[in-house]
Amino acid sequence: MPRDSSPTIQGFRVRAVRVPMTEPHQTASGVITESPLVLTDVITDTGISGHSIVFTYTAAALKPTAELIQNFETLVKGDVLAPAEVEQKLAKRFRLLGTQGLVGIALAAIDMALWDALARVHSMPLVRLLGGLEKPVRPYGAVGYDGVQGCAKAAEDWATRGFTGIKAKIGYPTVQEDVAVVRAMRKAAGDDMVIMVDYNQCLTPTEAVERLRILDDEGLTWVEEPTLAHDYAGHALVAREARTPIQCGENWWGTLDMQHAIEAQASDFVMPDVMKIGGVTGWLRAATLAHTKGIRVSNHLWPEISARLLCCTPTAHWLEYVDWWNPILAEPLRVEKGMAIVGDAIGTGVEWNEDVVRRFAA
Ligand SMILES: [Mg+2]
Repeated sequence: MPRDSSPTIQGFRVRAVRVPMTEPHQTASGVITESPLVLTDVITDTGISGHSIVFTYTAAALKPTAELIQNFETLVKGDVLAPAEVEQKLAKRFRLLGTQGLVGIALAAIDMALWDALARVHSMPLVRLLGGLEKPVRPYGAVGYDGVQGCAKAAEDWATRGFTGIKAKIGYPTVQEDVAVVRAMRKAAGDDMVIMVDYNQCLTPTEAVERLRILDDEGLTWVEEPTLAHDYAGHALVAREARTPIQCGENWWGTLDMQHAIEAQASDFVMPDVMKIGGVTGWLRAATLAHTKGIRVSNHLWPEISARLLCCTPTAHWLEYVDWWNPILAEPLRVEKGMAIVGDAIGTGVEWNEDVVRRFAA
């Protein structure tokens, strides 16, 4: 394509929404009842726009994040629609401020929307644009911090829906309660169900080693974030002492965090968060890094775009499936017979259900 006909970035449309959860999500540190999301459209001079979703965890960060993304528009307006090039330019621009926190979220919003726009301009699914092929991805369902009965019920529901894996939030006052939850889920969902657990960083490394000595006999596929996400030495201690694989990654900001964690041998598996790792551009680097070390890659949230990225990840493992943001999507990710179906929709699979977006406008 001649250079003078390359599509360019004309502007952003940024909207904030608060999407209520169908069922409140219980965690060890409180109940999540809604998703505060910023929806970004990057508009190109072709008239084609690319879309992205970022999640601010708390509504208090919603407006500042939306404003930050909008403020970044002037930095890329008129630039060629070339996501990796724009990523390098913005990374350089923010070297002094840093590219974590809200800045990192804003940069990821732009990156994901640019990749979506690029795929749409070429009328291609993201997977094809990246040189891959769509294939089914194995999803696991989320079980909240809901106690023995609640977790057993949720496990049974996922099994009924055909899911072959589930992950529960644990970190109850005693390890005996953690074990009771795991056993109740296994009983409810059957012996073939793959079970993972997530401590959401709530233990000290010493406590984690003590608990894992007991949990090691429960046949868990992984134990996630047993201690503070950025305590790589602590995670490495736990990983050395435990037989059950350790899973980390959702709180790594950029691939340098991931590289440091891998160098410290903090985690057996990795599960980058497409937002915190730096959008599609960051994910592709993370996938390469994991591939060079032979480490299995799962994702954190963002099932639509993550399922597509897992299709292009050589060491792809599990898809973390959640349906929290389905209401605002025209075509949410489908799960059939226990597998997530990556369709041939153009772009990253993010198309707005405008009526609902307007209804949940913040
Ligand atoms: Mg987690």
